[in-house]
Amino acid sequence: MGLVREPAPPVQETPSTPASASLPARPVAPRPAPRPVPAPAAAYVPPTDPGGCPPPEAVATAATLQELQRAIQGCLACPLGPGRLKFVFGEGHPQARLLFIGEGPGRDEDLQGRPFVGKAGELLDKMIGAIGLTREAVYIANVVKCRPPDNRTPTTEEARACLGYLRRQIELIRPAVIVTLGATPLRELVGISEGITRVRGQWKRLQVGDREIPVMPTFHPAYVLRQYTQDVRRAVWEDLKAAKEWADKTEG
Ligand code: SF4
Repeated sequence: MGLVREPAPPVQETPSTPASASLPARPVAPRPAPRPVPAPAAAYVPPTDPGGCPPPEAVATAATLQELQRAIQGCLACPLGPGRLKFVFGEGHPQARLLFIGEGPGRDEDLQGRPFVGKAGELLDKMIGAIGLTREAVYIANVVKCRPPDNRTPTTEEARACLGYLRRQIELIRPAVIVTLGATPLRELVGISEGITRVRGQWKRLQVGDREIPVMPTFHPAYVLRQYTQDVRRAVWEDLKAAKEWADKTEG
């Protein structure tokens, strides 16, 4: 037919990419499994029996420190109760002129059932000795009577659950002066939230029952151990000296 078939165009070969220039395939990371949503911590339900949750009237009618201790030593009214090894009521002279109040028991206190017996306690003894007194002549207690886990600061709810006991202790001891150690007792007991560095050494007042008691805020011995400077030690000594002088002045 006279038709000349055009030759098919040569097949162009695609130049292959050199192996050295190829990018390694990106590994496909497996999708992380969805994290389980932690169940909300169950709210602590205190027991209702009078041993585990001493009624206020048992506290109010306790006529001595021993009676008070017997009434409350099984307390489980807040979440700290079930975790304690020993209940730390407080100790010292039942009619002490000076009452020292710290935050809560630590590990050593929880093991021994006594307040301020670790390193901070040793320093507190020295601080008390520096104003011419002994541990036996004063009274030492804490805002909470059971150890907070990991020595954390007690929550306001825990402190509130325990404060009725401390207030009854104060009524029974009738101290001339209260020395608060660190920010927690000042905040939870006296209601002052200012930083301890700002307010230490300044007299405050606390109404307990029919009495208004002078309060001297100072540093916690654990803080003094961490900041063992001459300034901090002098500040504490001045605070305790002022507290002792006031107690002596109002004696009788
Ligand atoms: S810290 Fe106080 S309120 Fe809480 S369980 Fe102990 S004694 Fe009871």
